[in-house]
Amino acid sequence: MHAVSISLDRAESDEQMVFKPPVECPICRDVLELDRTLEDHLVETHTHIEVARYVASRSDQAEVQPVSD
Ligand SMILES: [Zn+2]
Repeated sequence: MHAVSISLDRAESDEQMVFKPPVECPICRDVLELDRTLEDHLVETHTHIEVARYVASRSDQAEVQPVSD
């Protein structure tokens, strides 16, 4: 398997559309590593109940505009 090395040289990002900022888990606020997806993190780190609660609380606030806190 080809190992992807994390390059500090962002000049190469020409091929990619935009530099992706690190993903932060909305539940535990952990910043995920660049090669991790939020999905993986949720599955491995959080229980179904945690994720369900988060989603439920989000949809409760769906009508509230996320302006600033
Ligand atoms: Zn998390």
